[in-house]
Amino acid sequence: MTRWPPITASATLPPGQAGSRRVTSNDNPLILQVALAARLRQTLDYLPPAGSEALARPGMRVEVPLGRRSTVGYITGLARESTLPRSRLRAVHALLDPVPLWDDTVLGLLCWAAAYYHHPLGDVLAAALPAALREGAAATAEVTLWQLSAAGLEALAGGPRLGKRQQELVARLKEGPVTADELSGTGLREALRGLARRGWIESFAEPVPPPPAGHGSGLAPTLTDAQRTACDAITGSLGGFAAWLLHGVTGSGKTEVYLQLIRRVLEAGQGALVLVPEIALTPQLVARFRNRLAVPIVTLHSSMTDTERLSAWRAAHSGAAPVVIGTRSAVFTPLPGLGLVVVDEEHDPSYKQQEGFRYSARDLAVARAQRQGVPVVLGSATPSLESLHNVAEGRYRRLALPERTGRAGKPRIAVVDLRHHAARDGLAQPVIAAIERHLADRGQVLVYLNRRGYAPTLYCTGCGWIAPCPACDARLTVHMRRARLTCHHCGTDEPMPFGCPKCGSEVRPVGQGTERVEHALNDLFPGVPLVRVDRDVIRRRGDIERALEKVATGKARILLGTQMLTKGHDYPDVTLVAILNADQGLFGADFRASERLAQQIVQVSGRAGRGDRPGEVLIQSAFPDNPLLTSLVTEGYEGFANRALAERQAAGWPPYSRLALLRADGPDRGEVFAFLREARDLAGGAGEVRILGPAAAAMERRAGRYRAQLLLESPARGPLQRLLDAWLPQVEALKAPRRIRWSMDVDPIEVD
Ligand code: ADP
Ligand code: ZN
Ligand code: ZN
Repeated sequence: MTRWPPITASATLPPGQAGSRRVTSNDNPLILQVALAARLRQTLDYLPPAGSEALARPGMRVEVPLGRRSTVGYITGLARESTLPRSRLRAVHALLDPVPLWDDTVLGLLCWAAAYYHHPLGDVLAAALPAALREGAAATAEVTLWQLSAAGLEALAGGPRLGKRQQELVARLKEGPVTADELSGTGLREALRGLARRGWIESFAEPVPPPPAGHGSGLAPTLTDAQRTACDAITGSLGGFAAWLLHGVTGSGKTEVYLQLIRRVLEAGQGALVLVPEIALTPQLVARFRNRLAVPIVTLHSSMTDTERLSAWRAAHSGAAPVVIGTRSAVFTPLPGLGLVVVDEEHDPSYKQQEGFRYSARDLAVARAQRQGVPVVLGSATPSLESLHNVAEGRYRRLALPERTGRAGKPRIAVVDLRHHAARDGLAQPVIAAIERHLADRGQVLVYLNRRGYAPTLYCTGCGWIAPCPACDARLTVHMRRARLTCHHCGTDEPMPFGCPKCGSEVRPVGQGTERVEHALNDLFPGVPLVRVDRDVIRRRGDIERALEKVATGKARILLGTQMLTKGHDYPDVTLVAILNADQGLFGADFRASERLAQQIVQVSGRAGRGDRPGEVLIQSAFPDNPLLTSLVTEGYEGFANRALAERQAAGWPPYSRLALLRADGPDRGEVFAFLREARDLAGGAGEVRILGPAAAAMERRAGRYRAQLLLESPARGPLQRLLDAWLPQVEALKAPRRIRWSMDVDPIEVD
C-alpha cells in the first residue's frame, strides 16, 4: 500500500491559522469515526492524531492502526462519545488530506447509499473515488517548481566549476522556475538532483492551472415554445429541490434545454453535473458543450486513464471546472456550489452498477439533488416506468417536448407477421421489399437485431445435438468468419467442428445473428455498401464514430447492428428501420424485458429520418397480437407504458413494489441452495415482506458456477429496509462454505 506523507498543521495551514478550529469546550476531545476500505459494516472509533486534533474533518483520509497493521480509512463523522472507553481507543497515525475529499452533502449521500444498498461504507467511499485517489494520490493538484536558492545564487556568483549539463540547467533556471516534468527527456533531471543535493536550488508548489475553458461562442437557437416552457419551469425551481422528467423524443431539443439551464446556473456562480450513458459520451457531445459554455468542462468516463480521471476529479473538486459531464460513477464527483443535476437518457440500464457496490446512478442523482436542495432534470425519449410512475404519484413533474426540431412527424410503424411471411436468414419478404424500395429512393436503411455472431445455435441434422457451453447452461454462438463457437456468458471459445461430435452428421447454424444477416443483405443487395455495428466489430472507443461516419457521409447505405445503435447517435438519412426480432424482448425471462424492447424500438426509430423524409418502421414478430406490441404500434411509447404499468401493478412488480435480491453462486449446487435456505430461515416470519425462493437463476450454471437467489418483495421501502437491516448481519455471520459468493442487490434491474 502506498504511504502518504502525513499532513501536519504547519505544512497545510498558513501560520496563525493552525489550531483556530480547536475545540474549545472542556468536553471530551473529539473521537473520529472512521470507515475502513474493507468489508466492515460499522465504522471504527479513533482518537485524532496527536498535534493536529483540530484539523480532522469528515471526508478526509487517515492512516490508522488496525491490529498490528496500519491501513487507510475515511473519517465519516466526529463524536464526543464512543461505545468503548477512551483508554481503549487508539489514535489515528496520520491525517492524509489537508481538505475533505467530499463536502457534507456528498459524504452524507455516500453514507446514506451504503445504508440503503446495504454495502460496506468503506467500500462505497472507495468506489466513489478515481483509482489514483484510492491508491494514495493527493486530492489537490499542485505542481512542484524549482528555482535557484539564495545559497545557490551566492555560490554561482563565485564562479564554481560546473559540468556541461549543470551549466545548461543553471542557464534555464536563470530564465525562471522549471518543473521536473519539463526537464524529462532533456537529460537535465540528474543535474537537477545534483543541484538540489548541494542546496543550490529550492522547490515551491503552485496549484495546477485549471483545464482550458470552452470558447462558449456558439450561438443559442431561439427556443421553441415547448423548450421555453420547460426552461422557464425548471429555471423557476433553481435554488430548491425539484425533480423534472423532461420527456422528449430524440432530436426534440432536450440537450438544448440542458445547455440553457446550465448557462443560468453558471451565471449564478454555480456548477452543473451532467450524467450520460457510457456510449453517449462522445467527443461531439463534449464539443457541443464547450462550444456553448465558456467555462472549464471536465469529463469522466471509463476509457480515460487513471491520470486523466484524477485530474478531472481534482478540477471538479477544487471548483476549477464547474461543469462535469460523466457516466455512472460521476454521480459522486464533488462539485462545490452544485446548482443543477442532469441525467440524460435516464431510462438507460447502464446507470445501474451491476457489480460490487450495486447502485443506481439515476436514483442517487435524484437523492443528491434533494440533499443539495437543487433541481434534477431526468431526460428521455422513453422514460423508465419508475419515472413515469413517480410523475403519476406527483413526486416528479413532467415536461414534454413533443416535436422534433426541424423534422417531419412521427414515423409510420407496422408489424410484419412472421406467421404469414417466412423469414429467410432472418429477413421476411415484406422487409426485403421495403429495403429495396427505400434504397431505390436513395434512402438509407437501418436493420436492428439485438444479437451478435452468425447464429445462436449450432445444430446436428442427424441426431439433434446442439453445441453446448461446457461451463454454462447456454448454447454456443456460431461465429462463422472466425470459424469459432463462443459463449457470450463466460467467454468459452472453441474451434467450430466440421461434423457432429456425437454422430458425425452435418452440423448447421440455426437462427440469426448480425454476422449472418450481414451476409444475407450482401447477397440480396450486392454492391450496396453496408456498415455493421456490434461488439464484435466495434471494440475500441472511436470505432463507432468511424463506422457511423460512413453512414453520415453516405458511403454506407445499410446500417446493421445491435442495441449499440440505440444510443447517442442520429441517422438523419435513414428512412427505413427494420427490427428483426421483437419476440426476444416480448418473451424475455425478466419482467423488464418488454420495457427494454419498447425503449430500444422507440430509440432506434427516433434516431432516423428528418424533415422531408418521414420514416418507416417495420417490426418482425410471430406474435403481432401481443397487447404490449399492439399498444406500442398504435399508441406509441406512452400507450405502451400505460399498459405495461397496468400489468406491473396487477402482478405486484416494481414500481408498485420494492425488490431486493440475494444472489449466491458456487461450484456445488447443493451448497448454494443450502446456504440460501439457511439465509431464508434466518428471516423468520418476514412480515409484509415476501421472500421467494431459493430459486435457480434463469441460466443456472454460468462459468462453472451454480447460481440461485432469494427474491424479497415488499409493498414499500420501509419494511424492506427494516428487514434487510436486521437480517443481513445474520446472513453475514452464517458459516457458509468459502466457495460460495453472495451479494445483495437492492432495487435490482434484472431478477432472472
Ligand atoms: P435531443 O437532446 O432531444 O436529442 P437536441 O438538443 O440535440 O435534442 O436537438 C436536436 C437538434 O436540433 C440539434 O442539432 C440542435 O442543435 C437542434 N435544435 C435544438 N433546439 C433547437 C431550436 N430551438 N431551434 C433550432 N434548432 C434546435
Ligand atoms: Zn449428431
Ligand atoms: Zn459459457
